[in-house]
Amino acid sequence: MSKKTPVHAELTQIRDMLLKGRSFLLTSHARPDGDSLGSQLALAAALRQLGKQVRIINSDPAPDLYAFLPDLSTIEIVASVEDRFDAVVVLECSDLSRAGVAGLEGRPLINIDHHPGNAMYGDINWHDVSACACAEMVFELVTALGAHLTPAMATHVYVAILTDTGSFRHANITARTFEICRQIAETGIDPAGVAAHVYNNGSLGRLRLTGVLLDRMQLEHQRRIAVLAVNDAMLTEVGCDPDDLEGIVNLPLAAQRVRAVVFMKETDEGLRVSLRSKEGIDVRQVAVSFGGGGHLNAAGFTVEHPAPDTRGQILARVASVITDSDE
Ligand code: AMP
Ligand code: MN
Repeated sequence: MSKKTPVHAELTQIRDMLLKGRSFLLTSHARPDGDSLGSQLALAAALRQLGKQVRIINSDPAPDLYAFLPDLSTIEIVASVEDRFDAVVVLECSDLSRAGVAGLEGRPLINIDHHPGNAMYGDINWHDVSACACAEMVFELVTALGAHLTPAMATHVYVAILTDTGSFRHANITARTFEICRQIAETGIDPAGVAAHVYNNGSLGRLRLTGVLLDRMQLEHQRRIAVLAVNDAMLTEVGCDPDDLEGIVNLPLAAQRVRAVVFMKETDEGLRVSLRSKEGIDVRQVAVSFGGGGHLNAAGFTVEHPAPDTRGQILARVASVITDSDE
C-alpha cells in the first residue's frame, strides 16, 4: 500500500488485553446484520486460534440468508449473561443497550464500532467512522493479534464488507477496503459464490413481497421521498416473514428522482422506521431526532407509540434534510 493505515492506540490496547486474557464474551447489536455477524465470527475464530475461550451471545437469531456463514451455529441466542469473562467485546454497537443482552456491565468492556455517534460506553473505545464496516476494524485487530487469516474468517469479513458497503456502492469505501478484500481473495474464497448466497438466495415470496411493496409505494415532497409501508397482514398475504424485508428499503433509490426512502414497519414494539438517502442527505440526523441512529445515508429508529401525525412528522424532517443538502 502506498499509504499506511495509522495504528490506533486503542487497537494496541485491545490487542494486549486480548492476548493477556483467557476467556471472552463477544456480542453485537440486536437484529444482527452481515457486519455484526461477520465481525463477531471473525474475531471469535481468531481468538480461538490463539487458544482462548470465546462465547458469542446475541439477543436475536441471524436472518436465514446468513445460514451459510461458517460457524454461525456457535452464536448463542440469550437475553442475559451471568458468567465471568476476562473481557466483553461489543462490536458494531453504537450504544450498549442496542445489544439487547442484560448483564454485560461489570467486566472490562471493549467497544469496537464505526457508527457515528457511538456512546463511548467501553473501558476501551476504538471508534473509527472511516471504516466501511466494523469488520474492517476487526480485520486489523485479527492481523495485530497475529492470527492466521483462514478462508472461514475471510468469508466472515467479506460478507460484512459486501453488505455494509451496499455491494461496493457506498461512499464509505476506501483504498483500505480494497486492500483488505485483496487479502481476503488470496485466501482462495469465492467472492461470486458469497454474493450469490447473499443476493440470489431469497424466496419467491420475497420477490412477490417486493412487487407488492413497490406497487404501493407513495411518493412525497415533489416525488423526492419514497415511502414504503408494511405490516404483518401484508407479510402473511404473500407468505413472508420479517427477514424477507431485508434490503427492499434500498430499491427506490434506483430511481433518479428519489433522494430518500422512508420504510415503515408496524411491529409489536411500535413503528420501526428505516431511512436511506443519496449523496450528502443526512438521514442519521432525522433518526437521532426520533431517538435512533445510524449513518449519513442509512439510519433507523422506532416510534413506540405512533400517533396519527407521526408519518407527517417523519416526512417533514426528511424533507428538511433534503432541502439542507440542496443549499
Ligand atoms: P436499518 O434501517 O435497520 O438497516 O438500519 C440502518 C442503520 O441505522 C444501521 O447502521 C443501524 O445500525 C442503524 N440503526 C437502525 N435503528 C437504530 C436505532 N434504533 N438506534 C441506533 N441506530 C439504529
Ligand atoms: Mn456496520
